[in-house]
Amino acid sequence: MFTSLAGKSVIVTGSSKGIGKGIAASFAKAGCKVLVVSRHLAEAEAAAKELGKGASAFAADVTKLDSMDAMAKAAADRHGGIDILCANAGVFPPHKLEEMTSEQWDLVVDTNLKGCFHAVKACIPYLKKSPQGRVILTSSITGPVTGFPGWTHYGATKAGQLGFMRTACLELAKYGITVNAVLPGNIMTEGLQGMGEEYIKTMSASIPLKRLGALEDIGNTALFLATGEAGYITGQTIIVDGGQIIPESLEALAQA
Ligand code: NAP
Repeated sequence: MFTSLAGKSVIVTGSSKGIGKGIAASFAKAGCKVLVVSRHLAEAEAAAKELGKGASAFAADVTKLDSMDAMAKAAADRHGGIDILCANAGVFPPHKLEEMTSEQWDLVVDTNLKGCFHAVKACIPYLKKSPQGRVILTSSITGPVTGFPGWTHYGATKAGQLGFMRTACLELAKYGITVNAVLPGNIMTEGLQGMGEEYIKTMSASIPLKRLGALEDIGNTALFLATGEAGYITGQTIIVDGGQIIPESLEALAQA
C-alpha cells in the first residue's frame, strides 16, 4: 500500500531489546539496513543476528555526544548514509519524589532527554543528505498525558522530548526532515513481563482494547511515520495505547 522503504538506512537507539528491538525488526522486515544500538555490544549483536541480513550492531551510549557521533559515522560508513533515526533508548528506574536523589534524577534525564538531543544532533549532517530524512522519537503517555507514582523524572523527560520535537521540527524542515513522536502505552516487553501475571491482568483490564500493546504496534507506527506518504506530517504525536488514556474514570470503562 505504501511506497517501499527497502534499502533505507535506519538507526534505532536502545534496540538490543524491548520496544527498540521491535522497531528495528519492523524496519528489517521492510528491507531496510538497520543499525542496532545499545551500550552492550554482545546484546546488540544477538539482536542484530535475530533480525537477519541487513542488520548489524554498534555499541554506543546516548548520554555521550562523541559516542553518538561515532554511531552516526558507523551507520553512514556501513549503509551509505542515514535516512531514518529512531531515538528510542530510555530508562525508567522508579523513585518516589521524596526519596529521589539528584543522581537518580540525572541518570534518567541524561539518558532519555539529553540522549535524545545527542542522537538527533549527531545524525543531522547525514539526514540532511537523505531525500527523505526522518526522526522518530519514542516518548510515552507517561508525562505528556498521564502520571504514575515513582516517575516524576521519567514523566518530565517524556514530556520534555515533545518540547524538543516541536522546535527541532521547525529547524529541520528546511532540509525536508520530519520529526515526530510515538507515545506508547503499556507494551509487552521482557521488562514488563517481569512484573508478573497479576500486573499484566490488572493492566489489561484497564485498557479499552483489553490487551497490552505488542512490539509490532509501535514498530508499525514508526514504519508509517517513515514512509513517503507520511512526508507532510511533522511535529506530531501518535498515541498507541489501546485507548488507555480515554476513559475519564473506572466507571466509564465499566459501563462500556
Ligand atoms: P528496555 O526493554 O529496558 O530497553 C531499553 C534499551 O535501551 C536497551 O536496548 C538498552 O540497552 C538501551 N539503553 C539504555 N540506556 C542506554 C544508553 N545510555 N545508551 C544507549 N542505549 C541505552 O526498554 P523499553 O521498555 O523497550 O523502552 C524503550 C523506550 O520506550 C524508552 O524510551 C521508554 O521510555 C519507552 N516506553 C516504553 C514503554 C513500555 O511499555 N515498555 C511505554 C512507553 C514508553 P543497554 O542497557 O545495553 O544500553
